Amino acid sequence: MPINYYQKDIETMPREQIRALQEEKLKKQVKHVYEHVPYYRDLMDKKGVKPEDIKTLDDIQKLPFISKYDLRETYPYGMLAVPLKDCVRIQSTSGTTGKRVIAYYTQHDVDLWEECCARAIAAVGGTPEDVVQVAYGYGLFTGGPGLNGGSHKLGSLTLPMSSGNTDRQIQFIQDLKATILCCTPSYAAYIGEAMKEKGIKPEDNTLKAGIFGAEPWTEEMRRDIEKSLGIKAYDIYGLTETSGPGVSFECEEQHGMHINEDHFYAEIIDPETGEVLPEGSEGELVFTSLDKEAFPLLRYRTRDLCVLTSEPCSCGRTFIRMKKPKGRSDDMLIIRGVNVFPSQIETVLLNEGYAPNYRIEVDRVNNTDTLDVYVELTPERFADTVSEIDKMERELAGAITNILGIHPVIHLVAPKSIQRSEGKAVRVIDRRKLHD
Ligand code: ADP
Ligand code: ZN
Repeated sequence: MPINYYQKDIETMPREQIRALQEEKLKKQVKHVYEHVPYYRDLMDKKGVKPEDIKTLDDIQKLPFISKYDLRETYPYGMLAVPLKDCVRIQSTSGTTGKRVIAYYTQHDVDLWEECCARAIAAVGGTPEDVVQVAYGYGLFTGGPGLNGGSHKLGSLTLPMSSGNTDRQIQFIQDLKATILCCTPSYAAYIGEAMKEKGIKPEDNTLKAGIFGAEPWTEEMRRDIEKSLGIKAYDIYGLTETSGPGVSFECEEQHGMHINEDHFYAEIIDPETGEVLPEGSEGELVFTSLDKEAFPLLRYRTRDLCVLTSEPCSCGRTFIRMKKPKGRSDDMLIIRGVNVFPSQIETVLLNEGYAPNYRIEVDRVNNTDTLDVYVELTPERFADTVSEIDKMERELAGAITNILGIHPVIHLVAPKSIQRSEGKAVRVIDRRKLHD
C-alpha cells in the first residue's frame, strides 16, 4: 500500500512547532558535522564557535557559510560526514557555472530526497493512478533520478524517459497516456511546440500537470507552457548540494514554492555582507540540511536570489514559501552599469507575443557594452515584409528599453533558427567574459 505523500501532519504543522523541530535537528546536525568533517570544524574553530554554542535556531547565524568554493576545495570527499562505505549514491551538479561539484548520499539521504519529490508530485494532485513521464536528464544530474524516485515512492507509474528524443516523448505521452510531465520548463516549451507541429491539440493529450524546474522561468513562460500543453504548470526547486529537486515545490495555489522545512532550514542573506535579512527582503538563499547524513551542508550559499514569505497559504501547508528565484547572482548581467536579469527580457518577449526562443548576446565594443537580443519570428509573421519586421524590431526594442532602461538591438530571426533546449537552456552569451 503506497504511503500518502501529502504528509499533512508535517506539512501543516503550526509554525512554532516547525521551528522547534528545526531547532532540535539543527543542534544534532551541527554536532554531527563538527565531529565528522574536519574542514568545517576548522571553519567553526576559526570563528570561535562550538556545537554547544548553538542553542536556538537563531544561533545558526554564528556558524560559518559554505559556498561552491569550499566544495571545490574539498573535492571529492572532503565534506563526507560518514564512512564512504555507508554511501550508496553519487550525483553531481550540471556544472552550469564552472567545475562540477559532487554530492554523496546514504540510503537514508536518498529516501529523504525522494520523499521530498514525492511530496511535490502529491502537491500537484499526483496519486498511484497517475502516469509520470520523467523527461529530466538521468545520470549524474539530479533531475531525472529525483523525480523518478519520488514518483516510485508515490506509487505512480513512472516513465524514465530522460531528456531528448522529442518524437518519442510525444509518442509515449500519447500511447501511455502520461498525466504528469516532469522536465525543465524550456524543454516543456519545446515539447509543446513540437506537439503543435504534429497537429496534436492541447486538449488531445492526457497530461494534466507538469512539474518544471532546474532553471529560472517566468510567469509568462508558465502561461505559455500551460496553453501549449493544456496543463497546469508547477515549479519545483532544488540543487545538488542540498540533494536535488524537491527542496521546495508549488501547491495548487501556484504562488511560491513551499520549502520542505522539516528537512531544510532557509535563510535570506545580503550577498555582500552576509547579514541575515528579515522575511520579505530579496537576497541570497542559504540552506542548511537538517537531516542529511553523508553530505550535510550547513549554511550553504546558493547564489540564488529570492524572497521568502510565511504568509498563510490557502492549501493549508504552513511551510514557508519562496518566490520564483530571479536567477543566480552570477546570472545577473551588468550592462552599461545597469543590472539586467535574463528573466526580465523573457517577460517582455512573451508579453509582446513572441515564443520563448531567444538568445541574449552581450559584448563590449569601443569600451561600450552592447546588448543584442535574437528572437524568433513565429511562422505566421515570417512572411511579413522587411518594413513590417523593422517596425516590430523597433517596437520590441522600445518595450525592453522601458523595462531595463537600456536600449537593446533586436534581431528578429527565422523560425527554428535558435537552438531548442532539452535540459537547462543556455540563453546568454557574454562575450565580454571571453575577451577577459
Ligand atoms: P548547477 O549549479 O551546475 O546548475 P544543479 O543542477 O544542482 O547544478 O542546479 C541547481 C541550480 O538550478 C539552483 O541553484 C538554481 O540556480 C537552479 N534552479 C533549480 N530549480 C530552479 C527553479 N525552479 N527556478 C529557478 N532556478 C532553479
Ligand atoms: Zn500552498
